[in-house]
Amino acid sequence: GAIWNRHISQDITRHSMTRKPVTPLDIEVWTPSRLTVTKTTSPKELPSSKSLIFGQTFVVSTINLSPSATMLHYAQSLFEGMKAYRHADGTVTLFRPEMNMKRMNTSAQRLVLPTFDGNALIECIKVLTTIDRKWIPKEPGHSLYIRPTLIATNSALVIAPPKEALLFVIACPVGPYYPQGFKPVSLHGTTEYIRAAPGGIGGYKLAANYGPCVVAQKHAANQGYAQNLWLQGPGHWLTEAGTMNLFVVIKDRGGVSELITPPLDGMILPGVTRDSVLALARNHVSGVKRLQGLPDAIKVSERPVNMGEIIQSSKEGRLVELFGTGTAAVITPVDRIGYNGGDVIIPTGEDGMGSISRTLWTELVGIQTGVIKSDWNYVV
Ligand code: PMP
Repeated sequence: GAIWNRHISQDITRHSMTRKPVTPLDIEVWTPSRLTVTKTTSPKELPSSKSLIFGQTFVVSTINLSPSATMLHYAQSLFEGMKAYRHADGTVTLFRPEMNMKRMNTSAQRLVLPTFDGNALIECIKVLTTIDRKWIPKEPGHSLYIRPTLIATNSALVIAPPKEALLFVIACPVGPYYPQGFKPVSLHGTTEYIRAAPGGIGGYKLAANYGPCVVAQKHAANQGYAQNLWLQGPGHWLTEAGTMNLFVVIKDRGGVSELITPPLDGMILPGVTRDSVLALARNHVSGVKRLQGLPDAIKVSERPVNMGEIIQSSKEGRLVELFGTGTAAVITPVDRIGYNGGDVIIPTGEDGMGSISRTLWTELVGIQTGVIKSDWNYVV
């Protein structure tokens, strides 16, 4: 793993207090040319690809932290999630890593942690991925999950912009999400807990967003649902599904399909997969690249959608597909939503995935695995 830290001068504190954006590395100029690599003297055994469980096997071991480190008390912690893919010809690529760097810096600003040069971190991840290349499993559908993390390491129990921070990157090999074909998931519509609120932190990838969501996940699981669906406000607006962004396809009464995802209103994480699905669908509509399997005249919308509209379209037979998007599974089809004591049934097609989600999944996975050429791939 890669670990480096630095002390933050008074300068950054002053910037943060006046709420001005912190300029990248005005603290201490760090460039990849200053990178030193210290390899472990006790490398871990490679796990068998058959026994990979997400997030259980890591390439580095431990870090030392003071028990009074403010990240432990006040959740001054944020992270990213991305993957390195190995193509059939041996090329290793990252998928749109600059999007993760941008989001990570946005998260850092929200927490008043130091921002950094995203390209410099990509360079470091490149070095790490090259050194740990053998940890990217060769089997189809496998990848190396990469988790850049930024934490405040001050050992002083003050609630303030931190004077010291640590940026590190860990990685773990992961297997395919659908080893035996697509499996649609069920969602429980969560109305008793909220994930995000206006002006809150739902639009940022902060550690503080995740721990408090476990209770809603557990509540959904207790009632027999795979994940929970976050419904916002008294209008029960759909926002996210577990830790995925959400898409729904609804036909209008004239039969035209609309691919809808809730807008980035600060309560939704700006997912890299979400952005990619929107771009593919818009390229299809504008004719930049037509995708076989998408209707010719599909409409693409970032707009609010609520349970009322889902139920109404379902009753009228106009609800076509509903799916989640995220780095982990790319696209996850949904087959039912538990809501108000009943279930809304969602069509999924015979093999578990509707034709629109399948088309988008095939294109995205094709790009990530190098079968389809794309400038979204960053070669390591
Ligand atoms: N929403 C939440 C809350 C998430 O944690 C994630 C995973 N990062 C996503 C959406 C999907 O984002 P991405 O496509 O960038 O993985």
